[in-house]
Amino acid sequence: MPDLLLCLRRILGVLERSVALPSMGSCYRCHRPWEIVNNNDRRWGVEPHSTPYLSVEDGDDCSRSCFPLCQWCWSHLAVEKRIPYYRELYALWEENERKYGFSTGTTWEQIKEAVINEQERIH
Ligand SMILES: [Zn+2]
Repeated sequence: MPDLLLCLRRILGVLERSVALPSMGSCYRCHRPWEIVNNNDRRWGVEPHSTPYLSVEDGDDCSRSCFPLCQWCWSHLAVEKRIPYYRELYALWEENERKYGFSTGTTWEQIKEAVINEQERIH
Protein backbone atom coordinates (compact mmCIF):
# COMPACT_ATOMS: atom_id res chain seq x y z
CA MET A 1 0.00 0.00 0.00
CA PRO A 2 1.44 3.39 -0.91
CA ASP A 3 2.20 5.70 1.97
CA LEU A 4 -0.75 8.14 1.93
CA LEU A 5 1.06 10.85 3.89
CA LEU A 6 4.03 10.64 1.54
CA CYS A 7 1.69 10.96 -1.48
CA LEU A 8 0.08 14.05 0.06
CA ARG A 9 3.50 15.56 0.77
CA ARG A 10 4.51 14.98 -2.84
CA ILE A 11 1.38 16.73 -4.11
CA LEU A 12 2.12 19.61 -1.75
CA GLY A 13 5.70 19.57 -3.03
CA VAL A 14 4.52 20.02 -6.64
CA LEU A 15 2.42 23.02 -5.59
CA GLU A 16 5.19 24.54 -3.47
CA ARG A 17 7.83 24.06 -6.16
CA SER A 18 5.58 25.80 -8.70
CA VAL A 19 5.94 29.01 -6.68
CA ALA A 20 9.48 28.45 -5.36
CA LEU A 21 12.58 29.79 -7.06
CA PRO A 22 13.85 27.36 -9.70
CA SER A 23 17.18 27.20 -7.90
CA MET A 24 15.59 26.06 -4.63
CA GLY A 25 16.61 22.61 -3.54
CA SER A 26 14.10 20.11 -2.29
CA CYS A 27 13.84 16.85 -0.39
CA TYR A 28 14.86 13.89 -2.57
CA ARG A 29 11.95 11.80 -1.28
CA CYS A 30 8.85 14.00 -0.83
CA HIS A 31 10.15 16.74 -3.18
CA ARG A 32 8.98 19.56 -0.94
CA PRO A 33 11.30 22.60 -1.23
CA TRP A 34 13.62 23.54 1.65
CA GLU A 35 12.20 25.91 4.18
CA ILE A 36 12.30 29.62 3.42
CA VAL A 37 10.88 32.71 5.04
CA ASN A 38 8.89 34.81 2.58
CA ASN A 39 8.50 38.60 2.50
CA ASN A 40 5.68 38.45 5.04
CA ASP A 41 7.86 36.52 7.50
CA ARG A 42 5.84 33.38 6.91
CA ARG A 43 7.72 30.12 6.74
CA TRP A 44 6.95 27.46 4.21
CA GLY A 45 8.69 24.40 2.83
CA VAL A 46 10.42 21.75 4.90
CA GLU A 47 13.27 21.67 7.36
CA PRO A 48 16.21 19.67 5.99
CA HIS A 49 17.82 16.98 8.12
CA SER A 50 21.55 17.77 8.20
CA THR A 51 23.94 14.85 8.47
CA PRO A 52 27.47 15.86 9.56
CA TYR A 53 30.31 14.04 7.82
CA LEU A 54 34.07 13.85 7.72
CA SER A 55 35.79 15.00 4.58
CA VAL A 56 39.16 14.16 3.10
CA GLU A 57 40.17 17.82 3.27
CA ASP A 58 39.02 18.54 6.84
CA GLY A 59 40.41 15.43 8.50
CA ASP A 60 38.65 14.58 11.76
CA ASP A 61 36.59 17.74 11.91
CA CYS A 62 32.92 16.96 11.18
CA SER A 63 32.33 20.49 9.99
CA ARG A 64 30.41 19.69 6.83
CA SER A 65 26.92 18.38 6.51
CA CYS A 66 24.63 17.26 3.73
CA PHE A 67 20.87 16.99 3.51
CA PRO A 68 19.14 14.95 0.83
CA LEU A 69 16.12 14.37 3.10
CA CYS A 70 13.77 16.58 5.07
CA GLN A 71 13.40 15.97 8.78
CA TRP A 72 10.03 14.26 8.29
CA CYS A 73 11.24 11.81 5.62
CA TRP A 74 14.48 11.12 7.49
CA SER A 75 12.56 10.21 10.66
CA HIS A 76 10.19 7.92 8.73
CA LEU A 77 12.96 5.80 7.17
CA ALA A 78 15.19 3.08 8.57
CA VAL A 79 18.89 3.75 8.05
CA GLU A 80 19.22 1.31 5.11
CA LYS A 81 16.30 3.03 3.37
CA ARG A 82 17.97 6.43 3.79
CA ILE A 83 21.23 5.42 2.13
CA PRO A 84 19.92 5.48 -1.50
CA TYR A 85 18.94 9.17 -1.11
CA TYR A 86 22.41 10.04 0.12
CA ARG A 87 23.83 8.04 -2.79
CA GLU A 88 21.69 10.06 -5.19
CA LEU A 89 23.04 13.30 -3.70
CA TYR A 90 26.61 11.99 -3.90
CA ALA A 91 26.06 11.02 -7.56
CA LEU A 92 25.10 14.65 -8.23
CA TRP A 93 28.30 15.82 -6.52
CA GLU A 94 30.31 13.41 -8.69
CA GLU A 95 28.60 14.74 -11.80
CA ASN A 96 29.39 18.35 -10.78
CA GLU A 97 33.01 17.35 -10.17
CA ARG A 98 33.23 15.80 -13.65
CA LYS A 99 31.47 18.69 -15.37
CA TYR A 100 32.77 21.71 -13.46
CA GLY A 101 35.73 20.45 -11.45
CA PHE A 102 34.12 21.16 -8.06
CA SER A 103 35.80 18.83 -5.61
CA THR A 104 33.45 17.08 -3.19
CA GLY A 105 36.32 16.74 -0.73
CA THR A 106 34.88 13.46 0.42
CA THR A 107 34.33 9.88 -0.62
CA TRP A 108 31.08 7.94 -0.87
CA GLU A 109 32.30 5.69 1.95
CA GLN A 110 32.62 8.70 4.27
CA ILE A 111 29.05 9.78 3.52
CA LYS A 112 27.68 6.28 4.00
CA GLU A 113 29.57 5.91 7.26
CA ALA A 114 28.15 9.24 8.47
CA VAL A 115 24.59 8.07 7.74
CA ILE A 116 25.16 4.83 9.67
CA ASN A 117 27.02 6.55 12.55
CA GLU A 118 24.23 9.08 12.92
CA GLN A 119 21.79 6.24 13.47
CA GLU A 120 24.07 4.69 16.07
CA ARG A 121 24.33 7.95 18.00
CA ILE A 122 20.54 8.10 18.32
CA HIS A 123 20.07 4.54 19.61
ZN1 LIG B 1 10.87 14.87 2.55
